[in-house]
Amino acid sequence: MSGDVTVISGPTAVGKGTVVRALCEKHPDLWVSVSATTRAPRPGEVEGVHYLFVSDDEFDELIASDGLLEWALVHGTDRYGTPAAPVRAALAAGRKVILEIEVQGARQVKQRMPEVRTVFIAPPSWAALKERLVGRGTETPAQMARRLRTAEGELAVADEFDHVVVNDDLGTAVAQLVELLGL
Ligand code: 5GP
Repeated sequence: MSGDVTVISGPTAVGKGTVVRALCEKHPDLWVSVSATTRAPRPGEVEGVHYLFVSDDEFDELIASDGLLEWALVHGTDRYGTPAAPVRAALAAGRKVILEIEVQGARQVKQRMPEVRTVFIAPPSWAALKERLVGRGTETPAQMARRLRTAEGELAVADEFDHVVVNDDLGTAVAQLVELLGL
């Protein structure tokens, strides 16, 4: 598999999704992968748009058939993975591909495809990240504690990435990505 792939990663709740959405609004020609996940849909999430919501058995089958470019167990509960075939098709069609995934997955993609561009979206500070995690309000206290633990580990790996973009001001973060991607 070869072509222009950018992995956008970073800690839980850093705002990766918001940054990627804003980037794609500016550049609708970008192709963003839709991940498979075993987690249940949140209110408002649409099958095939936000995620492919699959059962544990279906996820096992995707792994067994080598159908995933990478996958990870996130927060010790749910599995998430990037279906390989759509990425291959997008690259064959000459599209610039964006993978918005967590850090374990980013590491796997970099190992499999060393030519990919990896970008770590960092929070302005640990305090800011904690505030965002708490502010989202969609998790139970136990889920929140687990997410904080995950985020702490995720922050430590920033230097493995090709680039770091601080998500303080959304417009500035998007502008930096536009430059990194040569758009
Ligand atoms: P959420 O459940 O909040 O939508 O996502 C949880 C985490 O999983 C986020 O950090 C998100 O970036 C990550 N994620 C989403 N899709 C994938 C994927 O296909 N692979 C990996 N490794 N992580 C993913």
